[in-house]
Amino acid sequence: MEPFVSLNNISHVYQDLKSETYALCDINLSISKGEFIAIIGPSGCGKTTLLSILSGMIEPTQGTVTVNGRPASECDVGYMLQHDHLFEWQTIESNALLGLRVRHKLSDENRKYAHELLTRYGLEEFCKAYPTQLSGGMRQKAALIRTLALRPEMMLLDEPFSALDFQTRLTVADEVGKIIRSEGKTAILVTHDITEAISLADKVVVLSKRPARILKIHDIDLPSKNSLERRTDPGAGEWFDILWRELYEGSVDEK
Ligand code: ADP
Ligand code: MG
Repeated sequence: MEPFVSLNNISHVYQDLKSETYALCDINLSISKGEFIAIIGPSGCGKTTLLSILSGMIEPTQGTVTVNGRPASECDVGYMLQHDHLFEWQTIESNALLGLRVRHKLSDENRKYAHELLTRYGLEEFCKAYPTQLSGGMRQKAALIRTLALRPEMMLLDEPFSALDFQTRLTVADEVGKIIRSEGKTAILVTHDITEAISLADKVVVLSKRPARILKIHDIDLPSKNSLERRTDPGAGEWFDILWRELYEGSVDEK
């Protein structure tokens, strides 16, 4: 079967008149439909660059990306970032419909779908509230629903929980993971948090320092799909040791 996402020999160099920054080196990665992938790597190694290439926002210097058999730039992707970028002067309902409105897709059917998402994921009673009235976690959920309302083919998540306090982070990551899985979305999460990667993803891709190369791709073989259960699974501790060593000591274990 053709992979849903295919990155082939991707390298990227940022160039301007004065300097060159070599960000990615020969990245090859295949992702199946519905898979949840986490990408971990040192700060500044090229993780966001990789997501920008996956989203079609930047063309790689070398190599090709296809999503669902088409070039990445033709694919509908949803982005979830560290900041929710909700409009403070608009209600949660209005924020949830914003993407549809901007893209001229606010049909009755799409509006109904956005409301279904708000209801399904516990935000219905906050429809008329403003973002300032919501907790950081709820805001992130509202931002996710705004994105899902556009029915993206793939979700790209760039350190989406890193602005949240630790407790909130655990519950929001768990909820976001569940929502993405129950909507059957293919997801690529970039994080510097090893435990977050282990608890959410089917596969963890470990990148080297810049220019990022793939050091290792691991199938995370934990029994539960529930991220909170996975955090306390003894197997998660073993994975943490392996990934920590690969990331910070550069040694690659043959697990
Ligand atoms: P990460 O997300 O892993 O922290 P990035 O992909 O943001 O890393 O950046 C990788 C490298 O590319 C860094 O050295 C960064 O300074 C550089 N970089 C990122 N974006 C640009 C850009 N638009 N122009 C030039 N250099 C960039
Ligand atoms: Mg980044």
